[in-house]
Amino acid sequence: ALRGNKGWAPAWRSPVPKNRYDVIIIGGGGHGLATAYYLAKEFGVTNVAVLEKGYIGSGNVGRNTTIIRSNYLLQGNNPFYELSMKLWEGLEQDFNFNAMVSQRGVLNLYHSDAQRDAYTRRGNAMRLHGVDADLLDRNAVRQMLPFLDFDNARFPIQGALMQKRGGTVRHDAVAWGYARGADSRGVDIIQNCEVTGIRRENGRVTGVETSQGFIGCGKLALAAAGNSTVVADMVDLKLPIESHVLQAFVSEGLKPFIDNVVTFGAGHFYVSQSDKGGLVFGGDIDGYNSYAQRGNLATVEHVAEAGVAMIPALSRVRVLRSWGGVMDMSMDGSPIIDRTHIDNLYLNAGWCYGGFKATPASGFCYAHLIAKNEPHETGRAFRLDRFARGRMIDEKGVGSQPN
Ligand code: FAD
Repeated sequence: ALRGNKGWAPAWRSPVPKNRYDVIIIGGGGHGLATAYYLAKEFGVTNVAVLEKGYIGSGNVGRNTTIIRSNYLLQGNNPFYELSMKLWEGLEQDFNFNAMVSQRGVLNLYHSDAQRDAYTRRGNAMRLHGVDADLLDRNAVRQMLPFLDFDNARFPIQGALMQKRGGTVRHDAVAWGYARGADSRGVDIIQNCEVTGIRRENGRVTGVETSQGFIGCGKLALAAAGNSTVVADMVDLKLPIESHVLQAFVSEGLKPFIDNVVTFGAGHFYVSQSDKGGLVFGGDIDGYNSYAQRGNLATVEHVAEAGVAMIPALSRVRVLRSWGGVMDMSMDGSPIIDRTHIDNLYLNAGWCYGGFKATPASGFCYAHLIAKNEPHETGRAFRLDRFARGRMIDEKGVGSQPN
């Protein structure tokens, strides 16, 4: 800007689509771009196109509340999110882009003996998998976060489960970093290119109909997040996914006072403070199905009530902005990274509340699956048929983590 916004070089090209690619990825969100990046970088697959109906970062990757953590309880989830955390820890060096990875610590507050026991169990599971976890008592939490309402008559705070390595990452920089890294290795990122149909011959996908014409492909990979069911419908694939809106909120800028990410254990609310001073917070999804990227006032009220119950001073803070993103809510709270009933069609979906933190591991495991036709060891649990076989990974991946 000091140079009058002149002389900027685009970070990635805007190519005209080729007639055919070895791999087409539908969706230029975090997962689609990370998949393209790792396909090119780790597996040498570079004849790849990422088709994005809007612009890079216009979906959930640029709409989330930026929290990363690997504080999961269950087999399947725990090692996967820890792989993601390890990739976050080296990501900026890896793709040479400042994503502002900030391991400021994530605290889940607990408010009852039963909740403490559940959190202890989760912390132990984390430690057994080599993930850092600390159980804090009330005094330790009070020293870190004196502004919380410890004596709330209904929900007195007893302590917190803390993951020090959790934190936040500048979300749109993640999209840009992966996009630039993929582009520089030969991947075509094609924006304003909506997939409107999937062409099949002899039981295989041959290409996609798009707003820029037909494009052929050897393999087709879905990474459309909140629009997964819409895209899967194009090949009559029914997914155990519902789309809901999740809202995010940012307050006016305040002097630094929240050093960590804090989640309420007695309601659905979580908050962190951005480097510009705004409080970034959110809560539960809107309860109805929707593809709109905006939510409803009833949820705003619900989030605000939970926030004020946790931090009474919030009642004086003005909200500057809010928005919504369309969430692909799976039926057990865990994602799907798998092949499908069509041999050369691959699926990445069901990220619920927690797909941002999963971006690096999801991209890595999905690229492995697409390149080798074999699931990566760490993502093997996220099979589509687990719903039919009753092998759920039943861990509602929400900020407050009730279980
Ligand atoms: P997206 O960025 O949505 O990418 C999918 C892309 O597919 C979109 O850009 C879309 O335009 C494109 N697309 C769809 N249909 C088509 C089509 N037919 N043709 C071409 N392109 C198409 N997760 C966390 O881990 N931590 C958080 O703190 C967190 N907070 C959140 C807060 C909010 C308000 C929201 C909405 C989400 C939050 N999430 C969080 C979840 C996380 O953002 C998502 O799970 C994740 O970003 C989804 O993957 P993605 O980045 O690939 O999605």
